[in-house]
Amino acid sequence: MEKPPNINSKILALTVIVSLLSVLGLIIFFLLFSIPLQATVFILSGFVFFVLSVLALYYFYHIFLTRHFLKLNEAIRLRLFPHEIPKISDQLEDEDGFKTLNERVHQMIEMREKERQNHDHIDSYRKQYLGNVSHELKTPVFNVQGYIDTLLHGGLSDPEVNVNFLKRAEASIERLINIIDDLETITQLESGTLILDKEQFDIAQLVKDIFNSLEFEASKKTYRLTLAKKYDKPILVFADPFRIRQVLVNLISNSIKYGKVEGQTTILISTLKDDVVVEVSDNGLGIDPEHLPRIFERFYRVDKGRSRAQGGTGLGLSIVKHILEAHQKSIEVQSVLGVGTTFRFSISSVEV
Ligand code: ADP
Repeated sequence: MEKPPNINSKILALTVIVSLLSVLGLIIFFLLFSIPLQATVFILSGFVFFVLSVLALYYFYHIFLTRHFLKLNEAIRLRLFPHEIPKISDQLEDEDGFKTLNERVHQMIEMREKERQNHDHIDSYRKQYLGNVSHELKTPVFNVQGYIDTLLHGGLSDPEVNVNFLKRAEASIERLINIIDDLETITQLESGTLILDKEQFDIAQLVKDIFNSLEFEASKKTYRLTLAKKYDKPILVFADPFRIRQVLVNLISNSIKYGKVEGQTTILISTLKDDVVVEVSDNGLGIDPEHLPRIFERFYRVDKGRSRAQGGTGLGLSIVKHILEAHQKSIEVQSVLGVGTTFRFSISSVEV
């Protein structure tokens, strides 16, 4: 940062120069109006005039400029750091108004620059987000339009086509609902409006319930969902059961979606101090290391075609990450291409 100029000494020098000039003006005044120059009167009035102008200028400098700068500094300080306590006037008097103003203006410029960068970032995110959303919605909407069009133009009376196309239209509408639900969840999570409803529950039981609800999906691929141990006794956690269910359903159904026929997903639950660690491991496709850092981004898919064919919205892992972050927890992933993937996250076992 540039060193602020020493304005105090400059103001003092200026004050003296202006005062001397005014004394010079006084001499000219005496000469012009031919007032007899009595040495004592002149010296005395010159001295008084000089002292008065020094005092007047200094008073002006202190009262108007310094106070004005101090107040300005305080206003900028509170704008920069809105949570700070406003200073009382005694504390303000201690500051060097010009020096502080110089520092504050630089801080303000830096803050503005950060705000501008942030604004650019939000703007590009908004454009990208809208682009992604409309792209995701387009496919199922166009599909429904195509099926209805075919039905209206003769398909309705064709028994080969009508039920089949109605079923396909229904599937596309289900997909639309999935996308809208996921978008709603992610908006709530990102805007911080989602309120967690935490309570104590048995995570092992929750996993068993989810296995039952996904059994049909798994059976289509003769896929096995297994627990690493029996977990006869409850494993209590303190979290939002609905949201943790969402996390587990996303992870387990992904493992089925991207798993092999006759593949397997295993859940391991272990306790570590005040945390319960959950691992979801599969022996499926695996994820290339180049994609791993991005899979938690919204709409990011490794294989777009495969994801859409499986009914994926590209939002699942992003939702998972947000839910865990709302619980002040994180998720990690390890994967070997062609061997399988493990997602690991923790939840608190005690009330926090
Ligand atoms: P999607 O709706 O496409 O499944 P997700 O956010 O749930 O979106 O996942 C992002 C991408 O990460 C998926 O498209 C897929 O390529 C990859 N992925 C997620 N889970 C697995 C897994 N268990 N095995 C292999 N790839 C996975």
